[in-house]
Formats: sequence, structure tokens, C-alpha cells
Amino acid sequence: GARQQPDYLTGLNPEQRRAVETTEGPVLVLAGAGTGKTRVLTTRIAHILAQGLAWPSQVLAVTFTNKAAREMKARIGLLVGGAVEGMPWLGTFHSIGVKMLRRHAELAGLKSDFTILDTDDQIRLLKQLIQAEGLDDKRWPARQFAMMIDGWKNKGFGPADIPEGDARAFANGKGRELYTAYQNRLKTLNACDFGDLLCHPIRVLKANPDVLAEYQQKFRYILVDEYQDTNTAQYLWLRLLAQRRVSAPTSPLRGGRRSEQSEADPGGGDIGADTPTRLDTVSPTSPQGGGGNAAPPNICCVGDDDQSIYGWRGADVDNILRFEKDFPGATVVKLERNYRSTAHILGAASHLIGHNEGRLGKTLFTDAADPDDPKVNVHAAWDSEEEARAVGETIERHQRDGNNLNDMAILVRASFQMREFEDRFVTLGLNYRVIGGPRFYERMEVRDAMAYFRVVCQPADDLAFERIVNTPKRGLGDASVRLVHDYARRKGMPMLAAAAEIVATEEMKPKPRAALRGVVENFARWQERLDSTPHAELAETILEESGYTAMWQADRSADAPGRLENLKELIRSMEEFESMRAFLEHVSLVMDAEQNEDLDAVSIMTLHAAKGLEFDTVFLPGWEEGLFPHQRALDEGGRSGLEEERRLAYVGLTRAKRNCHIWFVSNRRIHGLWQSTIPSRFLDELPTDHVDVAEPPTSYGGHGGYGQSRFDRADTFSTRRESPGWRRAQANQTEATRGNWGSRSGIAVERIGYGETDSGFGAGKGSVK
Ligand code: ATP
Ligand code: MG
Repeated sequence: GARQQPDYLTGLNPEQRRAVETTEGPVLVLAGAGTGKTRVLTTRIAHILAQGLAWPSQVLAVTFTNKAAREMKARIGLLVGGAVEGMPWLGTFHSIGVKMLRRHAELAGLKSDFTILDTDDQIRLLKQLIQAEGLDDKRWPARQFAMMIDGWKNKGFGPADIPEGDARAFANGKGRELYTAYQNRLKTLNACDFGDLLCHPIRVLKANPDVLAEYQQKFRYILVDEYQDTNTAQYLWLRLLAQRRVSAPTSPLRGGRRSEQSEADPGGGDIGADTPTRLDTVSPTSPQGGGGNAAPPNICCVGDDDQSIYGWRGADVDNILRFEKDFPGATVVKLERNYRSTAHILGAASHLIGHNEGRLGKTLFTDAADPDDPKVNVHAAWDSEEEARAVGETIERHQRDGNNLNDMAILVRASFQMREFEDRFVTLGLNYRVIGGPRFYERMEVRDAMAYFRVVCQPADDLAFERIVNTPKRGLGDASVRLVHDYARRKGMPMLAAAAEIVATEEMKPKPRAALRGVVENFARWQERLDSTPHAELAETILEESGYTAMWQADRSADAPGRLENLKELIRSMEEFESMRAFLEHVSLVMDAEQNEDLDAVSIMTLHAAKGLEFDTVFLPGWEEGLFPHQRALDEGGRSGLEEERRLAYVGLTRAKRNCHIWFVSNRRIHGLWQSTIPSRFLDELPTDHVDVAEPPTSYGGHGGYGQSRFDRADTFSTRRESPGWRRAQANQTEATRGNWGSRSGIAVERIGYGETDSGFGAGKGSVK
């Protein structure tokens, strides 16, 4: 008889239902943003559990973030009625990898209580090893090597597997040797790094057929969200687990015995020896699978090639393209109806991504087309401060219209952009939270710099002193710092004062003593200049003379340029305050602002962190050439770099359900210099029929720079650039760009009007008043 349809299936469209109900065999859901891929995965798990096809512990489900995992668990609970206590294997690749590794640590040469090194530990360790090899660690920086190792581990390469060229590229050909030494050292320390969290399990599974068999039997269903951003190691790990050709005799689902022979890798468990191509030879349907008992695995991957945005971190979108080859007979489901966004947002996003070549190509449509729907709004602002101010006003307007702050998000391209918004929201008393990373003032480099400023302004701040006394490294090890610390306690004085006394004695060995004397003299000199030098200038000097800036300049790791940007942004933000002390006070207020999960708050995050999320209203600031698309992506990635940036723009736009506000500014300080900017080429790529170019509010009318805002709707942005108004704006910018803030005073004077809303900030606005 006709089965009654379970509640969780109602509302799904036929294609979604097919993806949910095709529980047996491989399934690939390839579909655009907002088509319900994640919803399909969630419902599919609910369906599997509700139908009794597997226990919760027999489902392996991979999400991209821990937050997504928590949400998915909660949703499944709602769908099947709260009985999803344990879904122990639902999580990110890392969290599942850790769990697996803890269970089998001995097989990886570790104890189950192994520690996971953070990047700092990892680099310290590598530096020791580089030095132990008698190499100059300035020429061969540990950070750079850490990145290389990371890259290798993303590919699943152990020391034996790295390509000759790679091995030669570092430390006069000692790359392989150092990598081996590093892995050995980790073993002695009973530790592993992030990359090992998957590489070790892969190795263990390959070297121990019985363990592999256990998991292959255990995981009856495998599900992967955001499949387009899996890297090779993740892919290899999934492939191993999905080679299921057995089942327990008790299982209602499968018969037959598992073949043991093909898993044993003649390579002796060197995971890297098994490139994807090699792995193909033991594919589920391969005759080597043994006995013809191969059962196609119940693996369901969902993804969108247009949202592949982690190529720079080793993700390989080809994993999607390879799926059908890897799993012959796979059911491929395409979802075309978007349930998230209005027709305008979808139209804008689809048109933009159409500029990429080499896409799989997808259709997307929505039934949600209301003539009242707002178009995508593009706004111009003079500079980033005004941008933050205007975004703040727009948020307050949406709030007055009855919208929750929780439904709004600001998605930035680079983390330094967050600072302006955070500052502004603290001034407005607007709750916000930063997702997927530390808040601006919590970033390591910003805290380091602030520690220098704190010691200059408050010489008794021992915590700040301890933080930077040996940062950058100047040979003041733990013993030296302890000596200063003990001396200070004995005499009841601050550490800096104690240090000043110590360097006049023989208490410390000559080398550290000289280093400490340098620190003491530096601080004395900076303190002397505190009231005579403009504070932002002094701040810059401090970071230069202390060697802190140089430390990051010498650093060749991927995050170093971003950190330097943050330092520049920090100094820039100080200019708005009367003194260094006033600035420090402001920061302590910002730091004190609540980050309460339950609070109604605007989310601020990078575009990368926004993947998979959705908000009623989305703000996309900083659409300027060089920032977005980011110059580094263009420099390093060429055409594919640009295409990945464009996918990032697509991800950004498609996060919005109803309102999408894009901003670009005419002037931005990049690398410490004011630059007149060019609107992002992505603006040119938006279709005019879905986009409104907002008039600046009348209150902005003050500057000549806004002449260009009379955009002709019928025009594209590129012709706007040629318009007389645009050229006038450029001319104004050049003038404003010539000097620093000083020469901006002419502009600043016109801004007095807004200053009045800024009472909390007032004292800091020296140049305005
Ligand atoms: P992304 O590519 O951005 O990760 P996605 O394909 O995973 O998007 P979901 O987040 O699963 O899409 O769904 C987008 C929105 O559409 C969600 O709010 C979801 O609840 C809703 N949705 C999905 N399918 C349906 C449906 N059949 N009926 C109503 N709403 C739906
Ligand atoms: Mg999703």
C-alpha cells in the first residue's frame, strides 16, 4: 500500500527528493548557490535514520566548519524528533580526523594523548631543525617551510613522495631531509600538526587492512558538503573509506565478504605514493577489488564548482569533475531552483559568474520575483570611514524597519577592512560579532603592536612588556625574562624599570644584557617623544625601530602580507585620535564590547568564512580594484586567480536573501598610502537591469567628489568611468591623495556635520574640530 510520506520530505522538490531518497549507491548533487544542497544532505541523514537504514554512529558526514556541523546536528534533531543524541562522525575533516587518530594513535607511532601543534609551535620546531642543519634560517625561513609542508600534506605527500623539484626548492636540496627530521621530531614529542590529522589516518588505514575494514563496514553512509573545496588528502581519505565492498552478514543491506587483499599497499603505507591516479587502480568496481563483491558505496557529495574558493589552500575543484569517473553509475542530481534569493540578486550573481570560463555551467531560477523586491544596490563613498558610517546608517535603517541585526552581515575581502566597521559600531552602540576569526584588535600582530604602545604610555604594564620583550626575537630567552621578572618583584618595581637597573649590573650575561639594554634605551627614547611627535608617526617609528615591522617583512608566509596590512590599518586608525593614550583607551572599550552568541548582532566576516551561510541583508564593502579582486590573487594566480576572486564575489552576492548592498570608495589607504581607487571590474560585470546605483544621501553632498554619483542607469559602470563627473572625482581624489591626513583637512572641515553624531568619539577627532 502507499506509504505515508514522512514530514521531512514534504516541501522538497522532485529533484531534491530524488537526492534524499536515493540512499544506495553514489550520488553527486551538483548545483548552484541556495538550491538546497545542504538541506538535501540534512534531510538525507534524517531519512537514513528515520528509515532505520543505519545508526547515527554509522553515518559519516563532513561539513566545512564546526558551526555548520552544529547546525546540521540541530536540524536533523528537529526533523527526526530529537533522537539524534550521538552523531559522533558528523564534523569537519579535521575534527573527524582527530577522533580517528586518537583511536589508533599507536598505529601512527603516537600515544592517544598526542598534542596538536599550533602554527607558532610548528614554526619554532622547524626553525630549530633548520638551524641544526647548519642552515641560515633567514635565508631559509621556517615559516616558508611550514607552508611547503602544509602544501605537501594537503596533497597527501609524506617525505618520500614529494616531487624532486619541490625537495630541491628548499634549503639547497635538503627539503626532503628536513621534512623527515620534522616528522621524526613530532613523533618524539608525541605531537602532530594540522596536516597530520588526515595524513596519519590515511597512512593508518592503508597500512592496516583490518582497521580499514572496520571503518568501511562502520560507515554505511558517507555525506560531504562543499565538496568543491576538498583537497587531495581529503579526497584520498574519503576514497579509502568509500571502497566498501562488504557488509556484516547481519546487515539487511549487503551480503558478501569483504576482500582483504587490495587495501594492502605495496608502497608500505606511504600515503603520498598513492596519487589519485594510483588510487584509481583500486577503485570500488575494479577487478582487483576481489571476488566481484564490490558494492557501490553509499557516498553522497554536494557542491558547486562556482563556489570553489580555497584553491589557494590546495582545494581541487577537479574532485567534483572526477566523481562520475571514480564512482561509475553515480546518480547525478542537478538542482536548479534557488530558494534563497530574489530574482534580482540571483540575476546579478548569475550574470557576474558568467564571466568565468571553464565552468560546468548551470541553470538557476527562482520563483520569488516580486516587483517590490529591491535591486542590488551599489553605493559610492569617499573613503572607508564614510563607507563604515553609511553602512552603519543603512543597518540602523533596516533595524528601524523591523529587521533583526542577526539577519545582517558584512562580508569583507580582507580582514583589515573589519577595523573601520568595528570601531564605528562601538561608537554607535551597535552589537556586532566577528565570525571565523579574531576581531581586529585581537589579532596577534595588532596585539603585539599595541603591547609596544602600552609600554610606552604605561611603563608599568608588565604584561605588555613580557609580550614584546623578545618579539621580534632578540636573544632574550625565558631565563633572561625570569631574571627581570624576579628582580622586579624583589624590588617592587615594574619590569621595564627593573630592566633599566639590571643592564647597569653584571647580573645578566653580556649578550642578553646588550639586547635588554637596547630595549630599555628604545623605550626611553620613545617615551621622550611621546608628547612631541604626532602619535601615529611615533607608532610607526616604534614598530620600525623595534624591528617588529621588519620581522613580518622578512616573513615569506602567506599570512605575512595580511599582517602587515593590519599593522598599517592600526596606525591609520590612530590618526583619528588625539593621542596615543586616547587611542589605547578607545581600544580597551572596543575589546570590552560583548561577543555574546545570544545577542542580536550584525555579523562581520570574510567572504571566505561566509560560505554556506545566508542572511536577509548582506553588505559587500570594498569593491575596488586591488582589494577585490585582490591584487595578490591577480599577481600570483593570473587568470585563474581572477576567476577564483570572481567566484568569491558570486559567493558574496548569493549569501543575500533580499537586500544586497555593495560599496566602493574613491580613496583607500593601501600599504599605508592614500590611493585613489578604481571601482572593481566586478561592478562592470553586474547587469544593469538588476542593479540600482544609489544616490548618495543628501548629507553627503558636501564633497565635490560625489559629482560622479549621477550615474546614468542605462550605462555600464565602465562608461560611467569616462563620464565628466567621474573624471572630476578622480581629479579631486588626486588632490586628496597627495598628502596625508593633513592635506585632507579641507575635506575634513566639510565633515564637521557628521562629527556631531560622534559624541563618543569626539575627543579623537582632532583634525575635524
Ligand atoms: P550554498 O550553495 O550557498 O551552500 P545550498 O545549495 O546549500 O546553498 P541551502 O542552504 O541548503 O542551499 O538552502 C538555501 C535556502 O533555501 C535555505 O534557507 C533552505 O532552507 C531553503 N530551501 C531549500 N530547499 C527548499 C525547499 N524545497 N522549499 C523551501 N525552502 C527550501
Ligand atoms: Mg550549502
